[in-house]
Amino acid sequence: MKRIILHLDMDAFFASVEQMDNPQLKGKPVIVGGIGERGVVSTCSYEARKFGVHSAMPGFMARQKCPDAIFLPVRMKRYKEISNKIFRLLSQYTNKIEPLSIDEAFLDISEHGKNYLSVAHKIKKDILKKTGLTVSVGVSYNKFLAKLASDWNKPDGLKIITKDMVPDILMPLTIDRIYGIGKKSVQKLNAMGVYTIEDLSKWPIDFMKNFFGKQGEEIYNLIRGIDLREVEAEREAKSFGRETTFENDTYDIEEMLSYLKGFSVHVSYALRVRNLYAKTITVKIKTSRFATHTKSKTIDSPIDKSKDIYKEAEKLLKEINLNEKIRLIGLSVSNITDGYQEQMTFLK
Ligand SMILES: [Mg+2]
Repeated sequence: MKRIILHLDMDAFFASVEQMDNPQLKGKPVIVGGIGERGVVSTCSYEARKFGVHSAMPGFMARQKCPDAIFLPVRMKRYKEISNKIFRLLSQYTNKIEPLSIDEAFLDISEHGKNYLSVAHKIKKDILKKTGLTVSVGVSYNKFLAKLASDWNKPDGLKIITKDMVPDILMPLTIDRIYGIGKKSVQKLNAMGVYTIEDLSKWPIDFMKNFFGKQGEEIYNLIRGIDLREVEAEREAKSFGRETTFENDTYDIEEMLSYLKGFSVHVSYALRVRNLYAKTITVKIKTSRFATHTKSKTIDSPIDKSKDIYKEAEKLLKEINLNEKIRLIGLSVSNITDGYQEQMTFLK
């Protein structure tokens, strides 16, 4: 492989930190976040996942699914401290690191050539030694496949996907595993008899463009294992965001706000892990009739804290005229600035 990309994803990060700091929690269903009436689950331990609990789930739902779970508050300072340790450690291997969140990153380690496997092993060992936590690592020649690989045998996984493995690995996968295909598209495709990547790979490119619009070509390439996106090292990213499609279209503003709250936390990590700030906040919704509405606001002083991001997002959502059910909600921040530079300009 000429290009070697790693995708690293700490296993149940917040919950694992809690279990490490308090060994009595080991082996128990631990849920971080989700406290209070409108709380949203940040992370849950593997023991809690067995009950169907997952991140971004409203706390009340998590309590219904797993009544014995131990709910803990988010101790961001502690997670950040460990995350910094991990990123410092990673920077000894390469400076081509793209943090995706507080506990997830792409690394381009092409510079290590044939030694990539021992590098991957060594990173896992280093992280365990320095933090006491496990990480799952995916290794491949592009981002899409590396990410697929890190998810392959979580927790504590290490999976390599080489070019010759691609057809065997990709073809049987269900289409919901493809980055960029939402739940509604999956349903539509299923109704047309398309369930797996193999089914979809029979479509000619024009067909793909017709069905998926401007994403058609990208998806056409992805399912053939082609993804030319580069690992964007720190500070190059132009925006950070999250979105989700509701299981059932909704009018419920409280439900939307609880998602925005969860997204604010994620977006805030993405900024803070890079020491970046944002000046523009955007809320996006898609209605059940597929109309997209976005509302943005640019503020004077850049922000990075989740509660500040949420405060703006909440105002923006309330400005949108909701007279239809909503199927998707998203939050992003852009107009990214480096906190340090910002201060320098201020001093001039
Ligand atoms: Mg993780």
